[in-house]
Formats: sequence, C-alpha cells, structure tokens
Amino acid sequence: MARLVTKKRKSNVLTPSQLRCLSKIPTINITSGCIHGCIYCYTKGYSQYPGDDTVILYDNTCQKLTDELARKRKKPQAVYFCPSCDPFQPVRQILDQTYKTMETLLKAGIAVQFVTKAIVPARFSELFAKHSNLICAQVGLTCVDDNIRKIFEPGTASVSQKLATLQTLVEMGVATGARADPLILGVMDSDGSLSQLFTAISKAGVKEIAVSYLFLRPAIRKSLERNIKDNQLLSQLLKPYSQGTALPIGMKNSQGIALPSRMREEAFARIKKIALDFGISVHICGCKNSDITTESCHITRPVHLPKPQLFA
Ligand code: SF4
Repeated sequence: MARLVTKKRKSNVLTPSQLRCLSKIPTINITSGCIHGCIYCYTKGYSQYPGDDTVILYDNTCQKLTDELARKRKKPQAVYFCPSCDPFQPVRQILDQTYKTMETLLKAGIAVQFVTKAIVPARFSELFAKHSNLICAQVGLTCVDDNIRKIFEPGTASVSQKLATLQTLVEMGVATGARADPLILGVMDSDGSLSQLFTAISKAGVKEIAVSYLFLRPAIRKSLERNIKDNQLLSQLLKPYSQGTALPIGMKNSQGIALPSRMREEAFARIKKIALDFGISVHICGCKNSDITTESCHITRPVHLPKPQLFA
C-alpha cells in the first residue's frame, strides 16, 4: 500500500479542473495520488503525480477552504470532489479531512458532488441525509466480477460494497448514478456482463449509468503493461488501440488514444439497447468521446436548492 505523507497546501483549494466536463464547477483534491491504485488511472501522466507508492494528504484543506469562502463575494453553488483522487480513500486522516471539508460546504448551503469507488462511511451518510438535496453522487462500477475489479482497481471497495453504497445513497434521496468508466472492450462489456451489471444496479434502485471506454496515454499504457500479468489479457486489451483515434481529453490540448470511433459507436448503441430492458438510461461521457457525441455523463448536475419559505 502507498505511504501517506502529510503536507500543507499553499495554493487555493477551490480550483477549476483541466477536465472539460468539470471546467464550470470549482473542484477540490483532498490528496495528490490515490490509495486505490487503479492501474488505468489517468492522473499517472500528470506532472504533479507523486508516484504509485505515495499519497500526499493536504491536511489544511478545510482551513484553507474556510478562509477562501470568507473572502469570496459570491460563493459557489456546488463543489466537486475530486478530479484527481477519491475523496473516500479508506485512511482515517484522509476521511477526517474530507468530512470536515464537505461539512463546511454543506453548512454554508453549497452542494457537494462526487464520484467514488470506495465505501462511503456511516458518518458521511448521516451528514448527507441531513443535506440530501445538496448531494450528487456517482459510484464507479464497471462490472460485477470482483476478480476483474481486483486486476484493474485493486484498492477499491468490493462490488457488493459499491452496490450497498449505491443503495444507501438512493434510499436517502441523493441524486445517484453508477459510473462504468473505464469499460474495457472485450473484458467487461459482453452482453452477459452488462446484463449482470444492470440487474445489480437496478436492484440497488439506480436508474442511470455513465459510460466510457478506456483511453490510453503513455503513462497509462506503461501501467497496464507493468501490472497485467496475464499476457493474453494484456494483448487482447491493447490490440484495438493500434487502430485507435487520438482525441482531446483535457482542456490544455492534452490527447488520449481512444478506441476507433466506429467501434465505440457500435458498443454504446449495444449498451443502450441492453440497458433499456432494465429501465436504465445510459449517458455517454462526451468529453472522452467528442468525435461521436455531445452527451453529458452527468458527472455534475445543476443544483436544486430548496425553495425559500415565505411564511414560517
Ligand atoms: S479511484 Fe480514481 S483517482 Fe483513485 S486511483 Fe482509481 S481512477 Fe485514480
């Protein structure tokens, strides 16, 4: 497991993300690096990535946020956690900082939106239940096979834990979706795997799923080559990318190699057709598929604040 290093953040806490879908909402990273160790993680290519063996916790995040909010004339309506890590990494110090930071925002009436692949601990559920109209959540779940999950995202919560998290969030009235991103062609997207996934999330009360396929950058490719011990699986996974399409992924001209456009179009059409039988709507990530769609994956949502009460 990666070692935890604690640091004071010097720069602002509320920052815009380089990802296009998150460019209109301030974001907070609680850590640099992530204990989950997903082998496809796109942050591996970032200049500030601390390496697979280190996670840096900014333990003054909540204090800096409080100071920044006090200075702002117009407070943000919502804040997104976290573009480059998971806010609920299962380490006490990280969870403590995430809790304080989210609590500060919610008490100020600012919505909290997040994607996670971890267990959301009970104390967060209690906090979210009090502010359910201000929470928007996606839980990352690409398939229901824990053996496949362990290959690609070894440190994340198990499939059953993720499904339990989805159900808890749905039951407390939080706007909740599943997120199958990245799907791996030929490994996670057979008709049978998708049917099992849709069965499981619909049982948890989820009605929508965001989807996208793996894209490659040099650092991601190296990570896959280093970590996938099964050579047949590795070559099966990489082969379609030899004909791949270079696409802009972030804001600053950064590119990734996606599956060929036609392959993705056919796959998304098939996924949507299967999902229909389960009453699940599929949202394709338009940022990572800008050549074929302008859809939104609903990683963030407009905030529906409670109506003001005219008479007490
Ligand atoms: S949970 Fe997200 S940020 Fe963390 S390692 Fe996995 S992909 Fe990267």
